[in-house]
Amino acid sequence: MSEQEANGCTDNQIRLRNAQMPKCGSKDPAEWLGKLEINRHDFPYASGLIADSFYEWCNKDAELPFAQSWRWCVFDYTGAWLAGSGGASEPDNPLWEQAAAASLKSARECTLQIEENGVETAFFIIPVSTRFGGEIFALVGCAMPAEDFADGGRNAAEAMASHFSTCFYRRFEHIFVTDLASVHIQEEHESSRRSRLFQIVQRMYDSIDVDAVLTEVIASISAMYPGAELTLYMSQDHRSAHPRVKPLPLRWDQEDVSGKAFKSGRVARKTTGEDNKLVEIGLPLGGKQGVYGVFHLVMRGPAHQDMDMSYLSMVANNAGIAFENAKLYERSNQLIRELRMSNGLTERLNQSLQLGETFEAAYEELLEMFEADYCCILHYCEEKGGLEVVMCNHPGLSNEIIEVGRGIGGQVYALGEPVILTDYSQSGTSSRLMDLTESQSLIATPLSVGGEVRGAIMLAHRRPYFFSYDSFRLLQALAGQVGLAVGNALLHAEVHRLANRDSLTGLHARHYLDQSIKEKQSGDICGTLVVVDIDNFKSVNDTYGHQKGDYILRQVSDILRASIRQGDLAARWGGEELALYLPQLNAQQAYVVAERIRKRVQEETNPSVTVSCGIAEWDWTDNDPASADSLFYRADMALYEAKNNGRNKVVVDLKT
Ligand code: GH3
Ligand code: MG
Ligand code: MG
Repeated sequence: MSEQEANGCTDNQIRLRNAQMPKCGSKDPAEWLGKLEINRHDFPYASGLIADSFYEWCNKDAELPFAQSWRWCVFDYTGAWLAGSGGASEPDNPLWEQAAAASLKSARECTLQIEENGVETAFFIIPVSTRFGGEIFALVGCAMPAEDFADGGRNAAEAMASHFSTCFYRRFEHIFVTDLASVHIQEEHESSRRSRLFQIVQRMYDSIDVDAVLTEVIASISAMYPGAELTLYMSQDHRSAHPRVKPLPLRWDQEDVSGKAFKSGRVARKTTGEDNKLVEIGLPLGGKQGVYGVFHLVMRGPAHQDMDMSYLSMVANNAGIAFENAKLYERSNQLIRELRMSNGLTERLNQSLQLGETFEAAYEELLEMFEADYCCILHYCEEKGGLEVVMCNHPGLSNEIIEVGRGIGGQVYALGEPVILTDYSQSGTSSRLMDLTESQSLIATPLSVGGEVRGAIMLAHRRPYFFSYDSFRLLQALAGQVGLAVGNALLHAEVHRLANRDSLTGLHARHYLDQSIKEKQSGDICGTLVVVDIDNFKSVNDTYGHQKGDYILRQVSDILRASIRQGDLAARWGGEELALYLPQLNAQQAYVVAERIRKRVQEETNPSVTVSCGIAEWDWTDNDPASADSLFYRADMALYEAKNNGRNKVVVDLKT
């Protein structure tokens, strides 16, 4: 390695790093430029500058008439020949080097004189020194007729050599200023780049919306490289409506820069095409938790060969982090929203323990929360042997019974699996809900109560791709709460039922009968109470035992239940006494019912027993129609009469 290379200089150009910066407090550039100095370390690199200064100087001074016949040359600080007038690249006489060596040795001017082509010629060497240190960095040589030399030529040559020194320093200063200017330009460029980056990054970090971050970074890169084709490939979970954003391809070509960049998380680049004029760049969009996508840039033209990759990566890296922040912000917002919805739904569901109201609340809340066009809730009904549409805002489906396994709702119930349809027309499945409502999007989830699937919830929208995957997930979570509320309502209904039923006969309990009669008396215009008492039941018990007695009591109760209309009430009045309340019937009509019961009991019980019945009616014309107690009393009196008249009889209380 040469000394120059070792110093980082590969040409003959002098470099500023060696030049001595003037230590001067003055702000006047002309003043400190004048104090700029070349030092010993610069000498090895000054040859080019000396030669160039020499040619420039020759062009000017060679115009002088007396100098036209003189030959000029220049040497470096070691006495090596650098250049000659008229473009001579080699010394025309060996005497030059001798004279130069002698001059360097003595550090003074040196003159050697020989006869050349019949003319006595003086070879005159003038040392050129640094302006302050006085160190010789070049030698100017002049060959002139000895006659001229003696006749003022020497002084003229000295003056011209001094002018050469000025030319050299002007050039030296010029280099310095040029370098300074280029450093300044570079710094300006760097500063504008930094400020641009700062603005881009600030705008990106200011955006708390994922799409806004993507839009910002796409706009920034497009502005940096206006001619470039830019595409942003995003992974499946990060879709965007921006026209430049596309889903990541499932498979990459092995040579694809985007694929490489996405997999490695680092910038990938390749040049292709004729003369490598096509530059392709893959730029990963990644944050701290992963790579979310990749930018693909295609640029034409050699101008992009040395484009600023580090700057581009810096923009992409910041974009990745800003994207991640926005994503996290969005996610936490989503969670808060879901939590709010969940709380709202629970609050609403807790307002009632009635099953019908629970379904209605769930239906209304879900419809609103998911901004769905339609909501349909199915509940399995054992009596009807299928899924009952308990809630639906399409009249075509209300109260329908859907076969288990049929349609989407039937499938969701049968398989216990949620379903999402983004585009019904393309799904190949068939659904009455979707057909009737002309919907294209659907999310459906099983409705489970205590771990058992009891129904299904379906939400539909007319637009395809309406529901997001997050909505799908949320519905499943909320269905758990609906299930809990439905479970509570069912439990409540069961407790209610149990509380109002007699456990042996399955008939209503007496307090329920009392309460119902009071309620009916406030709304109806008439009604009848029938008290039914098993005859001689004590001896039945004595004969067959208590268990058989219970069995007979159940048989009689079943006959009672089977003999009345819907809306009539059968209750256990107490012990072996039962009662019927027949709303809107008078005593005469009740008599027919009681007679039928009396006969059936006699015929159908085994061991056979008989019953006696006492009947009492009320109507709105009574003095005190609202008194249930008087009704009971009168029916009891009629029963007493039936007992007294031989039993197995029906007696009607005659109103007094
Ligand atoms: P009457 O014809 O006058 O009604 O005669 P009776 O024997 O039925 O009337 P009484 O009131 O003297 O007796 C009622 C009997 O009913 C007494 C009791 O042992 C029986 N009994 C009451 N409740 C039950 C029950 O839940 N199971 C059984 N096996 N017997 C009951
Ligand atoms: Mg009895
Ligand atoms: Mg009795």
